[in-house]
Amino acid sequence: MVDWAGGNDRGARPTADAIWACIAREGRAEEPVYLRNRQMAETWIAATLEAEMAAGRRVMAGFDFPFGYPQGFCYALTGSDDPLALWQWFEARVEDAPKANNRFDLAGEINLRFGGHGPFWANGLSREIEGLPRRKTDYQNPFPDRREAEQRAKGAFTCWQMAGAGAVGSQVFMGLPVLERLRRRFGAAVWPFEPLTRPVAFVEIWPSLTLGAAPDGWIKDAWQVREVARMISSLTPEELGGVLDVSAKEEGWIFGLGCEDVLCQAAMRPPRLSNNCFALPPGVHWTPVSEALEQLRERLTPVTGRETLDVSAAMGRVLAADVAAKRSNPPLPNTAVDGYGFTGGRGDGVHVLPLAVGRAAAGDAPGQVAAGEAIRVLTGAALPRGVDTVVLQEDVTSTDGQIAFRGPIKPGANTRKAGEDVVAGAVVAQAGARIGPAQAALLAATGVSEVETFRPLRVGVLSTGAELVEAGASARAGQIFDANRPMLLGMLRRFGHLPVDLGRVSDDRAALAARLDEGSATADAILTSGGASAGDEDHVSALLREAGAMTLWRIAVKPGRPLALGQWQGVPVFGLPGNPVAAMVCALVFARPALARLAGENWPTPQGFDVPAAFSKRKKAGRSEFLRARIRDGQAEVFASEGSGRISGLAWAEGLVELPHGAMEITPGVPVRYIPFGSFGL
Ligand code: AMP
Ligand code: MG
Repeated sequence: MVDWAGGNDRGARPTADAIWACIAREGRAEEPVYLRNRQMAETWIAATLEAEMAAGRRVMAGFDFPFGYPQGFCYALTGSDDPLALWQWFEARVEDAPKANNRFDLAGEINLRFGGHGPFWANGLSREIEGLPRRKTDYQNPFPDRREAEQRAKGAFTCWQMAGAGAVGSQVFMGLPVLERLRRRFGAAVWPFEPLTRPVAFVEIWPSLTLGAAPDGWIKDAWQVREVARMISSLTPEELGGVLDVSAKEEGWIFGLGCEDVLCQAAMRPPRLSNNCFALPPGVHWTPVSEALEQLRERLTPVTGRETLDVSAAMGRVLAADVAAKRSNPPLPNTAVDGYGFTGGRGDGVHVLPLAVGRAAAGDAPGQVAAGEAIRVLTGAALPRGVDTVVLQEDVTSTDGQIAFRGPIKPGANTRKAGEDVVAGAVVAQAGARIGPAQAALLAATGVSEVETFRPLRVGVLSTGAELVEAGASARAGQIFDANRPMLLGMLRRFGHLPVDLGRVSDDRAALAARLDEGSATADAILTSGGASAGDEDHVSALLREAGAMTLWRIAVKPGRPLALGQWQGVPVFGLPGNPVAAMVCALVFARPALARLAGENWPTPQGFDVPAAFSKRKKAGRSEFLRARIRDGQAEVFASEGSGRISGLAWAEGLVELPHGAMEITPGVPVRYIPFGSFGL
């Protein structure tokens, strides 16, 4: 997508009103590219089209200026109704260099052919140009003022205005010749004039059709071109076909006009994960925990849609966009105590001030107090004009009509300044934060009533194993109760996701595939337990491998055998080990941050702290270890057995001790890193 510009070179530093371009694929936009002049833009676009065609990809190139003029102009100027004849006409006559071009002279020339009073108006130069009126009042247009598309698109500009704020006249003059050359060179099809059967299509866009103001800190053109690229590339092929199904033979049309809701819905849809998001570098045997986490952090992106909610309904939701304060807190200077207000500080000694009639209480609009007088003020009251200092009521003797108190008192004492907490416009909550009670208070105080959030992540939980029966059912010899499912479902609820119970399946590949089909239709991500290793009955890893996008992550961690990470019909699947202890540790250490990313949340790093060990242990180098632990008398105790089937130890523990990758000799008193379950979001 390209945001065009009709003016001269804009300089080396990225700035507004220049040409900005952005490439998006499958709902993901790259960084916007700044193009300081049209010559650079033409080169960049040509190189991009060349590279994309060489890679066998199709390109829809959008440009934000009219591809045609109001009815009748094309024929009157070129003798043909074919709008592309107009493109050729301009290409043959426009002269363009970074610092000069002939657009105003050409507009004047065209006007002279029609009697010299239009259709073009506004001259951006200081010299007079024959035939080009400066003002619209000296102007007569032999053609309609607007195309049908411009009549329908609220706020669109007419293409006859050559200069002034928002004028698109110059953009068309300086855009069509470039597109005409690129069209010929790449055989591009021009929408909606030609069928889109070729690898490159040129489409007229108008970002403001669906986009408002840019967030703080963005150049509007850069932000708009990125958003519009992301939005259009999020459309399904069916939606795209529908939006492109337009007939406007001569005047052209604006992409998305009349289908704004389709575009806006697409923009709210998250992109799919890339196919290889779980790939590991080849040849690596045992990946250290920190590296595994880094990989997940880099590759995973939000997969849930967005939804705007009242703050009251957004508790527990993840913010999808930064939130700025609508109002300062406090909005006005006010008093922090009950007392008496006046202007200025006072030195040592006794001070007597006449007392104004009335008082200022919380909620009162600020009144006025005469210089040298004091007024009764109550906590939270906006300071009346003429008051900037407050003396505590306990320090004052008041009689009828006057107060007395002892100095010194500093100017501004006992007051709160406007905006001392938050200034209007400041970011009070960032995208990726989860809204808790404290955030709700801050949003309310700063006048924010609605926020853009991610929809909650639906996470399926599936247990696998021929030996498993439902807790509470009768178990035959050789069978055990399914302990992982209640554990994982409960964990997900604590993490703030929506758990989806996918039940149990036996060690049967067809049944497992059917259940994964079901799960991927209802959930955004799936946790399985059991069958994740590489043995005969490890069907989860086998199936994911057959499905293509699977890697067995051999992470250097105890407890935890290989973790099978893959995708089933585009839905990420975390194949956790079957042993409940390993399943819980892997879920806390790996699945939790990964799911947070998928839910749009900031990457959580569990905060721990060093405490003296109450135990002894010798640990080899080459892997991290997590021990079930709790703190008693300021020391970390660990569960007596490290066996990964010992579920009693999980319930006994209140956190984990993390031992680092290297070797360690632990004796009582040696500091170890303790991470409470609370830090893991439990
Ligand atoms: P697997 O990873 O399938 O080889 O299982 C490893 C161990 O974990 C075996 O002893 C399984 O019986 C046990 N196990 C697997 N799934 C569960 C479960 N949902 N609840 C309790 N134990 C399980
Ligand atoms: Mg098993």
